[in-house]
Amino acid sequence: MFNTRITELFGIEYPIVQGGLMWIARAELVAAVSNAGGIGFLTALSHSTPDEFAADIRKTRDMTDKPFGVNITFLPTLHPVDYDEYIDAAIAEGVNFVETAGRSPEPYMEKLSAAGMKVIHKCTSVRHALKAQSLGCAAVSIDGFECAGHPGEDDITSLILIPVTADALETPIIASGGFGDGRGLVAALALGADGVNMGTRFVATKEAPVHDGVKQALVRATERDTRLIMRTLRNTARVLTNSIVEKVLEIESKGDTQIQDIAQHVTGAKCQEMLNSGDIEKGVMSAGQIVGLIHDVPSVKELIDGIVQEAGNIMKERFGAMAKR
Ligand code: NAD
Repeated sequence: MFNTRITELFGIEYPIVQGGLMWIARAELVAAVSNAGGIGFLTALSHSTPDEFAADIRKTRDMTDKPFGVNITFLPTLHPVDYDEYIDAAIAEGVNFVETAGRSPEPYMEKLSAAGMKVIHKCTSVRHALKAQSLGCAAVSIDGFECAGHPGEDDITSLILIPVTADALETPIIASGGFGDGRGLVAALALGADGVNMGTRFVATKEAPVHDGVKQALVRATERDTRLIMRTLRNTARVLTNSIVEKVLEIESKGDTQIQDIAQHVTGAKCQEMLNSGDIEKGVMSAGQIVGLIHDVPSVKELIDGIVQEAGNIMKERFGAMAKR
């Protein structure tokens, strides 16, 4: 029922992708998603060295014999990152799929292609999706304004962004931003996508390696509980609201913001402390508007099975009944 260009590309059962999640998409979560019939992506920069990253790739392989990939995000960072070293580590470990994000993967395409790696580029606009297609990316993950983390600066929601991208591209498309249940999966396929990418929804699962306090905060949150920070730096990020986020917004509202003015609050190091301690006032954490639809903390398999079943029921029963009228 859910054979799409995305299930074919990855050789997986369901068109459900767990994209990069800074600090969270480690072996435990990635392997759980792949074992449940989707595909997980291990986030490179969550590892402080390429060797640690390589070790987590090997750990993932010990935990699943199913396909998985790695995420390499090229966004501004507080400390310089040697992306080539992380890419070399993934190549040396024989990874087949890489999700790139944040900036065009062009400088690395030759190296990635030569190593036989398929590149799935995540971006937030049709023009960048077309560029990714022209570079030979195997798929494009198109990230609507609802998404967690960096939605870009165009503010186009998934309801519009997915079909305009589908109309413009021949490359397979993964709908990203606002997805977390069977209704979303059916909607994405109806809009022309070949699968969905879910991030925040996977954080509220048993296998996500974060403190339960964080998972419960996602369960409590409503669709109104995210904020956009770093707009003034043209590096907008959608995050779960808390007192630190309000402080960042207050600093930004004064105008002429520099990254140094907010760095102590937005640093990934604080986010990592937050995820480990469950103290949700500790730092700033990416979260999408899908939090409004997160009401439980299932295992990854329960989540994926539930999504597939709900999507199947909608297509067979709800649509079936409508067709008969
Ligand atoms: P970090 O601690 O280096 O920076 C914290 C935040 O400030 C990030 O959002 C970063 O993009 C932003 N930032 C840093 N320097 C900036 C500058 N000069 N101008 C504008 N914004 C700036 O980041 P981190 O938490 O260690 O994460 C490392 C990288 O991974 C960042 O680029 C981050 O945006 C990115 N990221 C990736 C994912 C993913 O799923 N792969 C998720 C969230 C963030």
